[in-house]
Amino acid sequence: KGERLRLPPWLKTEIPIGKNYNRLKNTLRDLNLHTVCEEARCPNIGECWGGGEYATATATIMLMGDTCTRGCRFCSIKTARRPPPLDPDEPYNTAKAIAAWGLDYVVLTSVDRDDIADGGAEHFAKTVSNLKERDSQILVECLTPDFRGDLAAVEKIALSGLDVYAHNVETVRELQRFVRDPRANFDQSLSVLKHAKKVKPTVLTKTSIMLGLGETDQQILNTLTELREAGVDCLTLGQYMQPTKRHLKVEEYVTPERFAHWEKVGNDMGFMYTASGPLVRSSYKAGEKHTLHSFN
Ligand code: SF4
Ligand code: SF4
Repeated sequence: KGERLRLPPWLKTEIPIGKNYNRLKNTLRDLNLHTVCEEARCPNIGECWGGGEYATATATIMLMGDTCTRGCRFCSIKTARRPPPLDPDEPYNTAKAIAAWGLDYVVLTSVDRDDIADGGAEHFAKTVSNLKERDSQILVECLTPDFRGDLAAVEKIALSGLDVYAHNVETVRELQRFVRDPRANFDQSLSVLKHAKKVKPTVLTKTSIMLGLGETDQQILNTLTELREAGVDCLTLGQYMQPTKRHLKVEEYVTPERFAHWEKVGNDMGFMYTASGPLVRSSYKAGEKHTLHSFN
């Protein structure tokens, strides 16, 4: 039902490729790392890997396999009730490979593993501590599942030595159950972000929402207000893109001007930074932002 919207011109532009891009691309093959950047064919790869003007190379690495126990309606990742078991050597091998790869900033993320008692929190935390042992300079962001609200799991990761704790609420409060897996919800996600901040106040917390799913301006405003009240430091807003015909339709291509409006709203509300634009993704130029605003 309904016509698919045409892709607007601002989503067709080519993005410049920074100077580190080729170096990272060429050394990736032997390292056995799975990057979301490549697997999701992220349009920002040239900029993130390349490092752009400030030469801060960022990439997003996927832990705990390629199969999720959940099925969100916007996400094209494979789903199974019992994905293959975790690779016990992954925290060591991944840390070693990332350290050898030469990034300035890394985002570690994962599928949801509701089949594992702690949701994989220990595994996540071990990867961070191994990596920081090898490379104390690298900035580490973890973009984590909600662990079904298990705050002990959140705490393990918050205390692992990471710099940024990210967990995405994905959409406004009102659209949660249409967009995310039924096991996820707004309050549970908010409690994850609050708890990370509570147990480690120096860690920056960060979340991301997609626009274009039919949310109203008032709903966006309320969501931002709630996030700020929960002490969330950093916010990103980007356009939802339908990965396949079986996924949720795009209701609206939000214009660059509207994204700029939300960036201003976020900044005025007091987020440490708000990145908002059609192609902005949770990890978009994360290194650059954090290097510039938080770690000098
Ligand atoms: Fe990779 Fe994220 Fe950058 Fe895309 S926005 S290239 S997924 S780090
Ligand atoms: Fe995709 Fe994450 Fe939802 Fe799993 S929990 S389906 S990886 S968005």
